[in-house]
Amino acid sequence: MEPLHRRQRKIHCDPDPPRQNATLLMLVRNFEIDDALSSMRQIEDRFNRRYRYPWTFLNDEEFTQEFIQLTSGMASGDTEYGIVPKDEWSWPDHIDRQKARTSMKTMEDDGVIYGGSVTYRHMCRYNSGFFFNHPLVLKYDWYWRVEPSIEFYCDMNYDPFKFMKDNNKAYSFVIAMPDYPKTIPTLWDATQRFAERYPKYIDKDNAIDFIVDGQKGIKGPYNFCHFWSNFEIADLNFWRSEAYTKYFQWLDEEGGFYYERWGDAPVHSIAASLFLPKDRIHHFADIGYKHTPWLRCPTDDESYFSGRCLCNRHENFDEHVYSCLPKWFNVAGESSIK
Ligand code: GDP
Ligand code: MN
Repeated sequence: MEPLHRRQRKIHCDPDPPRQNATLLMLVRNFEIDDALSSMRQIEDRFNRRYRYPWTFLNDEEFTQEFIQLTSGMASGDTEYGIVPKDEWSWPDHIDRQKARTSMKTMEDDGVIYGGSVTYRHMCRYNSGFFFNHPLVLKYDWYWRVEPSIEFYCDMNYDPFKFMKDNNKAYSFVIAMPDYPKTIPTLWDATQRFAERYPKYIDKDNAIDFIVDGQKGIKGPYNFCHFWSNFEIADLNFWRSEAYTKYFQWLDEEGGFYYERWGDAPVHSIAASLFLPKDRIHHFADIGYKHTPWLRCPTDDESYFSGRCLCNRHENFDEHVYSCLPKWFNVAGESSIK
């Protein structure tokens, strides 16, 4: 006999609503099960129980039966579990490990967060260059990145995947902030050289003013702003494009994922800002979201007074001196708040 929760779900659910070719995607470790369930519960309650989008879980190790049982029990739709190919989660051959270990030690001594972690670097490289081509992910056009232990504060009364598709969006974010300069000292230099070598990939309506101040363009200094990529709803085909594929390979050859600690957030953000027209990037102003230590809450009256959200609009990273949202509005215009 099927478990009770499955039977109840079938009895109470409407026929499947129309869906996009999309998945909720979580890269996660077995020990993060409680935090994974907590994130799932909120995304399910606030959005997915009405749509039943499938969940895809990726891990560099086998998932335990317990992880599979508990997460598939909580999902309203199908679940799939994949392992990351070993060569996409290990040192590339060209990396000089001694040199990498020396710089990791220096970064750790310097107090850089995750400065000494090898697995964190594999994770950042994987999220930068590979997840979108994982066999389980390849069949999809869209993903929503979900991390363990996030908070999702508001009812989502429409399908954001459909919104993205209908409005020709390719990348979206909720929170934007500067990255730690010590983790990416040469990322911008590598990017400038890439842009010089491949000017054809730079979109003429790009959002470079989000990442370079004073309208200085690609020759100006990086301001370290990035979209906080622990939340992303995006078009997988953008990451699979020739421009991004070449960009990732270029960066990977530079070695900065290991010699420094390049994160997927600045890599994705710089790519989206350069290779996409700015109107294909969307800020979800109606989403309330927390990834420790920062949260933001929708500020408009509808969200606030309708009870749609369970957060305080006055406690809001958008107003923090570190928020890069004002720079985004300089690019996209204030109307994108709506
Ligand atoms: P932070 O958000 O930058 O502090 O980094 P996290 O620890 O949250 O890692 C980012 C994402 O990658 C989360 O979804 C983690 O669960 C996942 N992650 C990080 N390290 C590993 C790892 O070694 N193995 C697996 N499978 N997932 C990882
Ligand atoms: Mn995280």
